[in-house]
Amino acid sequence: MNGGSATGPGSATVVEFDAVSKTYPGGVAAVRDVSLRIARGELVAIVGPSGSGKSSMLNLMGSLDRPSAGRVLVDGHDVASLTDREVSALRATRIGFVFQQFHLAVGVPVRDSVADGLLYAGLPMRHRRAEAAAALARVGLSHRAHHLPHQLSGGERQRVAVARAVVGEPAVLLADEPTGNLDSASGAAVLSLLRDLHAGGTTVVVITHDREIAAQLPRRIEMRDGRVVADTARSTTIGAPR
Ligand code: ADP
Ligand code: MG
Repeated sequence: MNGGSATGPGSATVVEFDAVSKTYPGGVAAVRDVSLRIARGELVAIVGPSGSGKSSMLNLMGSLDRPSAGRVLVDGHDVASLTDREVSALRATRIGFVFQQFHLAVGVPVRDSVADGLLYAGLPMRHRRAEAAAALARVGLSHRAHHLPHQLSGGERQRVAVARAVVGEPAVLLADEPTGNLDSASGAAVLSLLRDLHAGGTTVVVITHDREIAAQLPRRIEMRDGRVVADTARSTTIGAPR
């Protein structure tokens, strides 16, 4: 129940964590008591060394995982209060994912892979393909629509993955190390694309271990040992626990 709060569906807050912790079976505390808000239209980097809990944060933001403690709201929905079916619907329609590995189906023309981003919407194939063509145009790949993934460079594949993630106009695009498998020029192009999407109104969260990439984004949330140790949206640096 939202009680008409400022964080309900369609509100200005897209992601909210209240005292969120994630402890994996076996006892690894990957996320420890994190509270944060990401507003609609933000472009945010979550940055930190390997093992600091960044992917665990993304999995929680993307409703791929549930917290061990605390509350996660995505697009105004308290993930814990939803059924599995509702979580699947939320994920399919309100969240776009991009991963380090591009995850494009082998042998499938890229336009059809992008169209698959709309499967849940129940649109006819013809309509999905038209939307996919428009999304490919947004990422500058109209001329590759009928190519197969193996005919594309890594940078182009990642741009296809971005097109698939945004074709349904999600509330938030979550990208986990999106440039991690790319050479620096292709990585810069993907980052530039994410900035363009943000300029066009998309809310984007980029996870990276790369401080240079993070430095190019307007807000940086720094993780260390599962905790947020700095957030440029707050005026002060939070001291790491000693
Ligand atoms: P990052 O993305 O910053 O590298 P992760 O969120 O992947 O960090 O991992 C944070 C910590 O949680 C690490 O110690 C990692 O080994 C552990 N971890 C991640 N996923 C699992 C899992 N499914 N089961 C157990 N431990 C995990
Ligand atoms: Mg990771």
